[in-house]
Amino acid sequence: MKNYGLHWFRRDLRVAGNKALQKQLSENNGRVVGIFCFDKEFLSRDDFSVNRFQLFMNSILELQKELRELGSDLLVLDEGPKSLLPKILEDLKKKTGAYPSLVSWNRDYEPFARERDEFISEMLKDKSIAFETFRDHLIIEPHELEKAPGKGGYQVYSPFARKWLSILHQPEMRKRVHSQQKGLDYLESRLKAKASKKLFSLSWDEIGLKKYKDSLQNYIKENAKKVDIEIPDSGSLAAYKVLKDFTSKLDNYKEDRDIPSLFGTSRLSMHLKNGSITTAQIAQYLDLKIYTKKTNSQDTFFSELIWREFYYHILYRNPHVEKLEFLEKYRDLSWENNKKHFEAWKEGRTGFPIIDAGMRELNQTGWMHNRVRMIVASFLTKDLLIDWRWGEKYFMDKLLDGDLAPNNGGWQWAASTGCDPQPYFRIFNPWSQSKKFDPKGEYIRKYIPELDNIDTKKLHEPILHHVKYPEPIVDHKEQREKALALYKSQG
Ligand code: FAD
Repeated sequence: MKNYGLHWFRRDLRVAGNKALQKQLSENNGRVVGIFCFDKEFLSRDDFSVNRFQLFMNSILELQKELRELGSDLLVLDEGPKSLLPKILEDLKKKTGAYPSLVSWNRDYEPFARERDEFISEMLKDKSIAFETFRDHLIIEPHELEKAPGKGGYQVYSPFARKWLSILHQPEMRKRVHSQQKGLDYLESRLKAKASKKLFSLSWDEIGLKKYKDSLQNYIKENAKKVDIEIPDSGSLAAYKVLKDFTSKLDNYKEDRDIPSLFGTSRLSMHLKNGSITTAQIAQYLDLKIYTKKTNSQDTFFSELIWREFYYHILYRNPHVEKLEFLEKYRDLSWENNKKHFEAWKEGRTGFPIIDAGMRELNQTGWMHNRVRMIVASFLTKDLLIDWRWGEKYFMDKLLDGDLAPNNGGWQWAASTGCDPQPYFRIFNPWSQSKKFDPKGEYIRKYIPELDNIDTKKLHEPILHHVKYPEPIVDHKEQREKALALYKSQG
């Protein structure tokens, strides 16, 4: 059999602009097949979410369909890569007479993934199988951005962002972003339902490894029974449509992004998480299609994409943040961890309408607006004095975009324990945050129908106006003082 390649999909669930696949295509003349190893251990992981898993599986399904249309295939098997890949490689060798001439994957920065990838790299080296890994999930990878050569990474966002932008404007990096145009053109033609020409010329059927049975449909069917929210369209085409729709809102992003009642942000996070779209594709699309000159809104939007990259760099360089406070001095904070308060927070019945609306949005839709994420996270840690890890875990249970690096970063920011966090003495007042960011009470009314007919002036702080609504479970002023004392006690 002629040379062929194997691409291992993980968080890069798309064909468009997938550099590893492109390399495989050219190197093996289109003879490449894909594999996704579904590790069942994942189902019992602390951060597992039935709803997010469904979105992920649906994205894989879309990818499988696309690859089949293009003349290749994706095999989804329910076994972890550490045991499955060595077996598959041996079986491929028996069946075709040779190992794949190239095994490829795109890099992942989470501690768990890095350890796994190291294991697979060693296994491939032992077998003398050629493999290559690629940058995909970030525009600029941690090893490419240091304070100075050998001086490590930044721990503060602003200098990180300055450096990130200065690197981005280097000709080589511009090329990196511009190289995404071909993939975007391909997506545009798929959107117009133009038949794609066959790029690939090898399928699993042709290889004939019949003993491996694709398990994707079983998992989709089983998991779908447990899903309790509406799952948005997924896959690279759906993500591309979300990006296109967002362009009409981009001009107002700077003003609208903080108002949760407006649909003013991109909602790209869940697609970025799965690699159905990448930040490089977004950067290329917005530069070329929309603007000739930059606007404040575009800068603000880019600064959010840079926050995402910042948290990935922090996690990569400081893997301990997954479990521990970034700032050592806050590792022994004595949280109150009142379980009843935690349940009230989770269920959206704290007596603070803005908190309750946010938590109900999360429970009903699997998403929460960024401003409200900040308010509810501050409330959990500074008003209820509950360990940020409890909140982080609950977000991972519920969020469709739940992603270790930005979720951990967001929680440690709110708890003032992270790198470049909210200073501990700047504690959000939930009543005034509510008035400022939901001035007409539209967001609150949407998620708390029992307050629908209440006058806007009374709606934010029902307790002051004898409105029938659960009483606040804590007194903000008192809790604020306690929080200040708690943080001060740690120096
Ligand atoms: P947009 O405003 O359109 O921003 C575009 C993209 O920039 C986002 O898709 C996201 O990738 C990135 N981004 C925006 N804001 C941030 C931010 N503050 N930090 C890092 N990246 C950002 N984001 C996740 O993707 N997954 C999470 O699990 C997550 N958990 C969070 C938990 C807390 C407590 C907080 C305060 C923030 C969290 N965020 C998380 C960041 C942010 O809230 C979401 O990325 C954003 O709300 C997603 O909506 P969007 O795509 O419409 O964002």
